[in-house]
Amino acid sequence: MKYIGAHVSASGGVENAPVNAHEIGAKAFALFTKNQRQWKSSPLTKESIRKFRENCEKFGYKSNQVLPHDSYLINLGHPEQEPLEKSREAFLDEMQRCEQLGLDRLNFHPGSSLGKISDEECLKRIADSVNLVLEKTKGVTAVIENTAGQGSNLGFKFEHLRFIIDHVEDKSRVGVCIDTCHSFAAGYDLTTPETFKATFKHFDEVVGFGYLRGMHINDSKKGLSSRVDRHDSLGKGMMGIEVFKLLMHDQRFDNIPLILETPEETIWKEEIAMLYSF
Ligand SMILES: [Zn+2]
Ligand SMILES: [Zn+2]
Repeated sequence: MKYIGAHVSASGGVENAPVNAHEIGAKAFALFTKNQRQWKSSPLTKESIRKFRENCEKFGYKSNQVLPHDSYLINLGHPEQEPLEKSREAFLDEMQRCEQLGLDRLNFHPGSSLGKISDEECLKRIADSVNLVLEKTKGVTAVIENTAGQGSNLGFKFEHLRFIIDHVEDKSRVGVCIDTCHSFAAGYDLTTPETFKATFKHFDEVVGFGYLRGMHINDSKKGLSSRVDRHDSLGKGMMGIEVFKLLMHDQRFDNIPLILETPEETIWKEEIAMLYSF
């Protein structure tokens, strides 16, 4: 079973996200459980939590169909102590929100060295951050997203994801999310049957499909190995449509949330229908 959806709005309350997802024919969704551009948000209310759970039940979304995304401000590999601690606190808060909502995974961007520490040092900090937060929570998996490798952001190589996993103590609660646009921008071609096969073979060898907890389904405005993160609507960017057909026919992507983060929300419904038509 393929669970396709989009990163929908939770404005007015998290309980609106499943409603918004249902309206576009989604069988999965992503959401921010707090304002993604602010450090502090008020706690989720009991009412909001109850309605969220109720709406998920009503529209048939189980936890393996929902992939919450953390705030863009968080940098779990920050080179300086104070901002690192602030990030860790914020990430803990996000994991606790997932717990409250009955969700079992939280997607995050690994972090950035800001050019001040080595990549290895930064990746170690990220793993330490994950360890600290997993210790204080239950039932929620930290899902590392691969990145386009823009600036000093790490996570653009499958080896980075593996390094973090290797340094996380509880391997049952760490996973990965592969963003197709980020992969392509980072130099992993997926656009032909041959390159798709080779890239995911490499992924399986380095990381392992056992860790895959979700996918972000995006085309890319920028070229292969551009290291620039610009999402495009499916078939409208540099990747072409073939990669999305290949994904739909591949059982390794069954039973996990497959989330559109494409720029034109008005065509999400069509993009979802198109994917199912493959
Ligand atoms: Zn992301
Ligand atoms: Zn993404």
